[in-house]
Amino acid sequence: MSARVVVVGSLNVDATCYVDDFPAPGQTIAATGFQLALGGKGANQAVAAHVAGADVALLARVGDDANGALALATLERLGLPTAGIRTTTDAPTGVALITVAASGENTVVVAGGANLGWTIEAVDARRAHLADAAVVLTQGELPVVAIERCAALAHEVGARFVLNLAPPVGVGAATVALADPLVVNEHEAKALGIGRDLAADAALGRWLEAAVDAVAAGTARSVVVTLGAAGAVAAGGAGTHDASARPGIAVSAPRVRAVDTTGAGDGFTGTLAAFLAEGRSLHESVRLAVAAASLAVQRRGTVDSYASRDRVIEASA
Ligand code: ATP
Repeated sequence: MSARVVVVGSLNVDATCYVDDFPAPGQTIAATGFQLALGGKGANQAVAAHVAGADVALLARVGDDANGALALATLERLGLPTAGIRTTTDAPTGVALITVAASGENTVVVAGGANLGWTIEAVDARRAHLADAAVVLTQGELPVVAIERCAALAHEVGARFVLNLAPPVGVGAATVALADPLVVNEHEAKALGIGRDLAADAALGRWLEAAVDAVAAGTARSVVVTLGAAGAVAAGGAGTHDASARPGIAVSAPRVRAVDTTGAGDGFTGTLAAFLAEGRSLHESVRLAVAAASLAVQRRGTVDSYASRDRVIEASA
């Protein structure tokens, strides 16, 4: 039986304009392409974990609107169960306005909508879904109280708590300390004080030292920092589920032609969660996640850019 990943997560519809260059403030430019598609870090990560072979339950909230219907239809097309999605009349489905430049870089503005309705009570109401979770995964796009409640429930049921603190919202230190791992990109890491003094072009080895220092300081049980085209580093400390994660590892990303990095971080995190849930080591899971993300950046789109489990395993070999 495949390992169970429960994603308590954000779900948005992404309105993406492809452009040559980003518009300056006050400027209007023509897009070279447009796409309306499922997004949100929680939904993206759930799809990535599913594609990587995990048995995934996505617990999310949508509005009673056309965007919500689009999101549900997409999840069904991709083969994800939708029983954990609640439709609310209180707020619209979350929306992300994205621009992707010819360089592959992107900008994103998120209107949280129904995602912001996650409360302690809303998490508790879904408690039964967490009972047999190997991994509980959540992200910084949910309200802080909901993230903190997820961590507590994951701890209670003995599941591994994976926290993608993107954006780096003010979650209590006691909650972050339970993360195994805390997954952040370099900007989020710096906002949390990890590698704060490192230069923009700092070598992977310096980031590895920063991650090792962070777990030694008790920031989290283990820490993964993703570093774009450079790859990722991971470090494990006391209390991690995986003693082999100590002290840490740096994984270089293969050199590829990136056409769209939107959702690369989510592809990374969902893949990581799937392989951790199978019982693979943090090191092996990070290698597989780097392989998955480097395949994803070579294709346009977000959830449709995630490569199959077999291709990921082949690419990581
Ligand atoms: P995004 O917000 O764009 O989804 P992110 O900022 O959360 O991404 P990054 O660190 O940029 O996360 O990327 C996540 C992972 O994706 C990296 O660790 C790396 O494995 C892969 N990746 C990103 N960009 C590239 C690239 N240009 N070439 C190869 N791999 C890449």
